[in-house]
Amino acid sequence: MAATVVYWFRQDLRLADNPALLKAVALGSVLPIYILDDETAGCWKMGGASRWWLHQSLTELDRSLYGRLNVYRGRAEELLPQIVEKIAATAVCWNRCYEPWRIERDSIIKTRLTELGCPVYSNNGSLLWEPWQVLKKQGGPYKVFTPYYRKGCLSQPPPRAPLAAPAELELADPDDNCLSLAELGLLDGYPWHDKLTTCWSPGEVGGWRRLTAFLEQGLAGYREGRDFPAREHVSKLSPSLHFGELSPHQVWHAATAGALRQNLADDLDHFHSELAWREFSYYLLYHFPHLPDANFQPKFDRFPWQSEREPLSAWQQGLTGYPIVDAGMRELWQTGFMHNRVRMIVASFLVKNQLQHWHDGERWFWDCLLDADLASNSASWQWVAGCGADAAPYFRIFNPVSQGQRFDADGRYVRRFVPELARLPDRYLHSPWEAPASVLTQAGVVLGENYPQPFVDLKASRQRALDAYAAVKSV
Ligand code: FAD
Repeated sequence: MAATVVYWFRQDLRLADNPALLKAVALGSVLPIYILDDETAGCWKMGGASRWWLHQSLTELDRSLYGRLNVYRGRAEELLPQIVEKIAATAVCWNRCYEPWRIERDSIIKTRLTELGCPVYSNNGSLLWEPWQVLKKQGGPYKVFTPYYRKGCLSQPPPRAPLAAPAELELADPDDNCLSLAELGLLDGYPWHDKLTTCWSPGEVGGWRRLTAFLEQGLAGYREGRDFPAREHVSKLSPSLHFGELSPHQVWHAATAGALRQNLADDLDHFHSELAWREFSYYLLYHFPHLPDANFQPKFDRFPWQSEREPLSAWQQGLTGYPIVDAGMRELWQTGFMHNRVRMIVASFLVKNQLQHWHDGERWFWDCLLDADLASNSASWQWVAGCGADAAPYFRIFNPVSQGQRFDADGRYVRRFVPELARLPDRYLHSPWEAPASVLTQAGVVLGENYPQPFVDLKASRQRALDAYAAVKSV
């Protein structure tokens, strides 16, 4: 009888450049499985937007496996040994994950399966450099991005070339105990579907399409253009990278080839370094597993965060009265995505001008972002809040008016997501309260009625934030 090997898809929902899948294929016929393990994830179970993406991505993956993907819901720790025993599997293969709860769970599973006589093979399918390979000369992990990347990563062997999809994939008979995709219930209770379907194409093929379009139209000018939310200079590949529809190796090498063709050394260097920020986030999460829960700099434990809920609610709904902040929060709600520059602006506004805890923003992003990622989300929130590793200094408080005027000067971004301000002239678009009454009337804007008055005073809230910081900085 041919050996049957379980291949466990996790954050690698693709067939190409999948080292653990190639290993499984080399060992026998493959039972491909996916387990929705909300129980073990606990408070880090996937949010609503991620669930929508996952549903679509699994549908695509199942299609490329000829409808033979086996899906389950429950504790992987219990389910995997049951599956292995039922089909008498001779091995289990997976690509490694780096979230602390997954590392703990996977090591328990590995031990249990090994005791059952079923070896586990794990590979690196989602990071360019393993976190434990990049260490400072004197030992210990880097805490600052530039030396981590320039000295640490770039002195390692370069990212390996992507691997082809298995030439032949012999699939084992399906397990009659598995669920249908609909039974996973990923779409239950979330009113996202229609609006997201119009802007995204999850899955391996959709990811490649987006990557190709970015290399053809977005990479030239990326270095400068990536800061302007209305320009098409970012890849929007973060959900595909998060779910592993594309590997970072594929993206890294495709960008290198695309840049060579177009002579774009600077843009490429910058794009590679953004991929490296993703690596750095995973690196920090691996070496500092409390990153999602605790301030990286403990002195911030004493920071006087405000607890009233009204500012948080105004921010969530995009009703702060600051157009670039509101545009960002509405982009998030309508599309499941937000441009990186705007993520920094809205996050700074929440934690500094509104003095709300970065956890509140982190949780909202977790639920609403299609690319919600424990490593990048928590590292980035801590970075903006000033309490992270290599963080933006606390006194760097983004001014949403000047940020809007600089990065959305012609107002294309704000007009798209805050249509009630669309008829305001550019001059007042980012500060409508400064517009003369006649200009507001002509544009159909009634502040306090169809668009809010500013929720906080910028100058006073900035000073309040600096005073609060002064109280903790000497600790
Ligand atoms: P591109 O500019 O095209 O970059 C290519 C890839 O590089 C991205 O897809 C992403 O994987 C990676 N990347 C780029 N910038 C960063 C960065 N600053 N940090 C980490 N990786 C980066 N990113 C997530 O993937 N998931 C999150 O949950 C997340 N939460 C964030 C929260 C806040 C408050 C902030 C300020 C940033 C957050 N980011 C997060 C990082 C960044 O905003 C997104 O990765 C980026 O906007 C994705 O857009 P893109 O694919 O067009 O990026």
